[in-house]
Amino acid sequence: MPEPILEIKDLSVYFYTYAGVVKAIEKVSFDVYRGETLALVGETGCGKSVTSRAITKLIESPGKIVSGQVIYHRNDGSTIDLLKLNEEEIREIRGNEIAYIFQDPHSSLDPLYTIGYQIAESMEVHGRIKNIKEGIPKVISILREVLLPDPERRVKNYPHELSGGMKQRVVIGTGIANNPKILIADEPTTALDVTVQAQILELLNELKRKYNATVILITHNLGVVAETAQRVIVMYAGKVAEIGTVEQIFKNPLHPYTKGLLKAVPNPMIKVERLEAIPGTVPNLITPPGGCRFHPRCPFAKEICRKKVPELKEIEDGHFVACHLY
Ligand code: SF4
Repeated sequence: MPEPILEIKDLSVYFYTYAGVVKAIEKVSFDVYRGETLALVGETGCGKSVTSRAITKLIESPGKIVSGQVIYHRNDGSTIDLLKLNEEEIREIRGNEIAYIFQDPHSSLDPLYTIGYQIAESMEVHGRIKNIKEGIPKVISILREVLLPDPERRVKNYPHELSGGMKQRVVIGTGIANNPKILIADEPTTALDVTVQAQILELLNELKRKYNATVILITHNLGVVAETAQRVIVMYAGKVAEIGTVEQIFKNPLHPYTKGLLKAVPNPMIKVERLEAIPGTVPNLITPPGGCRFHPRCPFAKEICRKKVPELKEIEDGHFVACHLY
């Protein structure tokens, strides 16, 4: 039985906007297993980034975590509900035990400071080094680990002096600087060109192995999922639609939305004649459809789908789906 490092239970996040309350994620539950790479996939606006940010309470106003638990199992066997921690306590965990790599390296780095200063500062904040000057040799070795060329010289560079791929390596370096147990990578390759994307994914895989970390990878790219993850969570309109291993999801998708996603992109495991788009658009989450949120777009929708929210059910070992067809 795989051992969970995180148990996310009934997590709901709402955004209180002038237009109304956006129910960005509602009663989202899943486990993250120690040492795995878990991919969160779905269209833009499905709630994958909000879910990953809510894990360490990184939700800013007008957003609010309205319910749920995030149980973190520490290496020493103790557990804590991260959502119960105050701001100071969660800051200790964030960037230290649980680190983020965000999509856009340009906005993750401060243009006013050298990259060496920024990585050293993140280590100083968490007490890994005494002061920034003394930490620079450690920063250089981190830059070497993330394969930044000429790290002794680059450590003195400002972000604008680096290419997009180099900046993302620096952001990853900041992420691993404190030896985190969980690395949350939110679309880490989206802003990069295709060759650099492959290098960054390879680097993430390598660092995960080296540090024995758990990775949560947020992506809309199923090719990235097939290459990088062991398990997948498919989200739709703020709810979990399906959970399974990469093989279960790619070879035997159950949820009509997952099937639609796979038909809409080139699938490395299945040969298809023609790619098909999922009809319709993602619903407005101020007034989401009742029952199954996918019913207005689902070719298999029945009467019950409009009325009753489908529960997540385990159909085969480790393969869960929220759909009335099962
Ligand atoms: Fe389609 Fe109904 Fe299943 Fe929703 S519950 S995915 S509408 S069949």
